[in-house]
Amino acid sequence: MSDATLPQPQPPAPAAASPLRWLLSIAPTVAAVVAIGLVGYWGHSTDWRMPSFDELVGASVEAETPWCEEHNVPAAECVECQASLLPNAETYGWCDEHGLEPCPLCHPEVVQIESPPVIATQELERVAAVLDLRERAENVVGCPLNAQRVQFASVEAVDKAGIDVDLVQRRALVEAVEANGEITYDQTHLARLASRAAGSLWRVEKSLGDRVSPGDVLALVDAAAVGRAKAELLDALADVDYQQQTVDRLRPLAEEQIIPGARMLESETALQQAEIKLRQAQQSLVNLGLAPPVEELARLSPAQRAERLRLLGLSDELKATLDPESTTSNLLPIVSPIEGEVIRRDAVAGEVVGAQAPLFQVADTREMWLVLSVPTEESAYLMRGQEVRFQAEGLRTPIVGRLDWISTDIDPHTRTVSARAVLENPRGELRSETFGKGRVLLRDDPEAIVVPESAVQWDGSCYVVFVRDRDYFKPDGPKVFHTRPIRRGVSQGGFTEAIAGVWPGEVVVTEGSGVLRSQILKNNLGAGCTCGH
Ligand SMILES: [Zn+2]
Ligand SMILES: [Zn+2]
Ligand SMILES: [Zn+2]
Repeated sequence: MSDATLPQPQPPAPAAASPLRWLLSIAPTVAAVVAIGLVGYWGHSTDWRMPSFDELVGASVEAETPWCEEHNVPAAECVECQASLLPNAETYGWCDEHGLEPCPLCHPEVVQIESPPVIATQELERVAAVLDLRERAENVVGCPLNAQRVQFASVEAVDKAGIDVDLVQRRALVEAVEANGEITYDQTHLARLASRAAGSLWRVEKSLGDRVSPGDVLALVDAAAVGRAKAELLDALADVDYQQQTVDRLRPLAEEQIIPGARMLESETALQQAEIKLRQAQQSLVNLGLAPPVEELARLSPAQRAERLRLLGLSDELKATLDPESTTSNLLPIVSPIEGEVIRRDAVAGEVVGAQAPLFQVADTREMWLVLSVPTEESAYLMRGQEVRFQAEGLRTPIVGRLDWISTDIDPHTRTVSARAVLENPRGELRSETFGKGRVLLRDDPEAIVVPESAVQWDGSCYVVFVRDRDYFKPDGPKVFHTRPIRRGVSQGGFTEAIAGVWPGEVVVTEGSGVLRSQILKNNLGAGCTCGH
């Protein structure tokens, strides 16, 4: 059929057109007025727009071309009524593997591009991996929009209907589990420091924000318990000395049986008891965080011992700042066990402090924790080692880390699962208690097949797009759009992934796809076929 012999496209004729024509044929003028009223009422109740008077009259007068009322195209071109014009694609049946029908991956000939694509094994593997990655929206077998077609009388009619199209394309796409998160200090590199004995703060050495190394003294507490413990240790050392001397003196006498054996045993027992007391005194100081060098002390004179013990636990550097004569021997240093930064200080010099009252917090901020609260239903997709991107409030660029711990229980209040990533923080820009949005990457796919979001329609049982027929622009080509179920993946940046169902290069309807969908549903609900197929 050439352009010249193409029948003139007709304006849309509603289902009510047939009785309308009959009315017009018996009483053209009067009936038209009545009909307009009737159609107006019908249109009101069905959302159909009432045509203008001219359109109605034109339809009746210029009805020379036989018109397929059911499919709203010239009868001679109707692909539904003239099966030979565009035979229905061979039915391949439901594809179990990809969950749709027809399946362009398994039957590339259904793809509406010039010649069927060759689907590489690699591509089939990619699709299989994407479908396997997590639960995907399922289409219902035999959904009503499956293998349907909508035909237009002409390209102009398509434009007039407000149909707009776009290409199916490949696009980089990230699929992730999204979760709210919070940055905290690395709890394994966080120290809460308290005085181990009650006393008063004698001197504060470090301030908020100061960097400290393991062993650094943050403050000195004047604690009577420390002086007491040191005195007990000195006593115990002296007692051990005395009992040792006694044993040493008596042993030769006992060997020569100058003194009775019982006397010897008595002195040995006394030495053992003195040694026990020494260990107890030593332990008291250890409990205060001060480890006395007992063996070294044992070799010193009593005066040297007192001197050695007086500033126990203080570095030489610190001792150099103290007057050795006047400084109390009660000093208890508060020492950082870790490398880090003073992040909290509740200590003021002179203040009375109780035992265990927290005075400092030191945190190693070179690494911070990101704790995500992952919705329970998403937690199944989490694995250690997955990349996490965290957009913290107040920071421009996302921070990247890797999941290194996933909680084995569910928070009973929030019904979420905690997952943790360690974040590098070399410049110290991450702050504890920063909130933000985290994404645990399941897939970073540079090759995803996508369509514009507006192209995808949900019909209640499957996701479909409308694909333009490959012969659409050929002069004789039917102006047809095919429904095609897709396996819907993620939506991102205005695009929706079609894991399967369409192929790059195909053309899908964007604007107006909703109109096509309701047109088909209306046809399906209608009285059915009037032309015998
Ligand atoms: Zn027809
Ligand atoms: Zn398939
Ligand atoms: Zn028919």
